[in-house]
Amino acid sequence: MNWRTPMAAVSVIHGQSALWRQCFRTAGVGSGHLHTSSCRATSKDHYKLLVLGGGTGGITMSARMKRKLGAGNVAVVEPSEMHYYQPIWTLVGAGAKKLASSGRTTASVVPSGVKWVKSKVQEINPDTNTVLTDNGMKITYDYLIVALGLQLHYEKIKGLPDVEDWVKFKIGSNYTVETVEKTWKVLQNFKEGNAVFTFPNTPVKCAGAPQKIMYLTDAYLRKVGKRNKAKIVYNTSLPVLFGVKKYADALWEIVKNRDIQVNLRQNLIEVRADRQQAVFENLDKPGETKVFEYEMLHITPPMGPITVVKESPLADEAGWLDVNKETLQHKTYPNVFGIGDCTNLPTSKTGAAVAAQSAILDRTISKVLKKEKPDRKYDGYTSCPLVTSYSTVMLAEFDYTGQPLETFPIDQSKERRIMYHMKADFMPHLYWHGLLKGLWGGPGPYRRIMHLGMK
Ligand SMILES: Cc1cc2nc3c(=O)[nH]c(=O)nc-3n(C[C@H](O)[C@H](O)[C@H](O)COP(=O)(O)OP(=O)(O)OC[C@H]3O[C@@H](n4cnc5c(N)ncnc54)[C@H](O)[C@@H]3O)c2cc1C
Repeated sequence: MNWRTPMAAVSVIHGQSALWRQCFRTAGVGSGHLHTSSCRATSKDHYKLLVLGGGTGGITMSARMKRKLGAGNVAVVEPSEMHYYQPIWTLVGAGAKKLASSGRTTASVVPSGVKWVKSKVQEINPDTNTVLTDNGMKITYDYLIVALGLQLHYEKIKGLPDVEDWVKFKIGSNYTVETVEKTWKVLQNFKEGNAVFTFPNTPVKCAGAPQKIMYLTDAYLRKVGKRNKAKIVYNTSLPVLFGVKKYADALWEIVKNRDIQVNLRQNLIEVRADRQQAVFENLDKPGETKVFEYEMLHITPPMGPITVVKESPLADEAGWLDVNKETLQHKTYPNVFGIGDCTNLPTSKTGAAVAAQSAILDRTISKVLKKEKPDRKYDGYTSCPLVTSYSTVMLAEFDYTGQPLETFPIDQSKERRIMYHMKADFMPHLYWHGLLKGLWGGPGPYRRIMHLGMK
């Protein structure tokens, strides 16, 4: 593709390009309409709004922004042919759902009227409103939404064998499309010994997922009569079983009743696959390690920010996208916004959080386009359906303060069958037909109705 917009000539003043200021000057303030005519594309590679990443947040915001800005004005950069509904991998790893049910082609989820740039973002330069891709494209934008997710770091675990050999070495991991079915194979092959589950010493997406598969393993082994041959061990880097006390208390009861051993502050650092040994470091006593023999090892890998974000001026010190936690607008570049796992929003990284963020971000961008102050605030809402068996879920919902923010007027720290159906059957529909179409912004309005306006 050609790139003819002379962005290189755009001067940069106080981290804000002249083009950007010009766009703002000509925007129809308070009119309710967008006037970005001075920023109109002079080539095919300029978009009013560019979205980086076509995962949960990227497709959701593409749909919302296309409705706002019109066909042809929004593009999304995403290299993958397939789009996955990752939350269902918890059930795929336990044999309760098929992997195929989790994926659809990216072509089918990119909203019509949105240009799909099938490429990988290689560099983001917010001073010149430019993005470079790995196929040599230079794309310019008026507004940018970064939705690049996070990076998995299996390579940081010493000795981890090639993925092809994982089943032979009794290793699985629900965190990728390549490894999730291996969890199910290893579980089915389980004979006798330790089933060991890990939680790394980094932020993770869906902090409940590392233990959901453990409860399903317990349930599966009971079902097939092997539970008395298994010792189930949860080695977590965290100092708690779960970050919100109400749910943590209920989970401690469950692990006690199901005879599951929990070891806090234990971080997986090495796998000796040929000996079926996992080595953990005691984070409270650096250098002190403990070796666990295993018959099944489920790995939740270390995670971190995407390199292209980390290496851009958009990152905070830790490498995450540095956004305002209430408006999701970038702290330094006002025409840049962020959503989802790539951000430094101090809440648990989940698809449910993305849903709530999408409604706020939609509103923030509307206001910014009208040169008004963003007025709605994200409260950090996130949710984690803690699958505790093949028929029960504890639906954890909470906010920035770590306080429960529950949708239903019942005690959600109880395991319930209805919540399992919600997780396994209803939420996938809500994802494909509601969230990705930009029609679902989280349960906030329903929560207020169900609690008679009290929450
Ligand atoms: C096992 C598991 C269980 C989970 N369970 C739940 C759950 O029960 N409930 C829940 O709400 N959430 C759950 N989640 C978390 C949820 O899936 C994520 O939080 C959510 O998908 C985040 O959306 P995102 O858009 O930020 O990132 P993603 O959906 O991961 O999308 C990021 C996109 O960016 C693309 N990308 C990366 N690098 C580049 C690049 N350089 N250039 C262009 N594109 C790039 C990727 O290909 C990807 O498509 C779970 C996740 C896993 C793995």
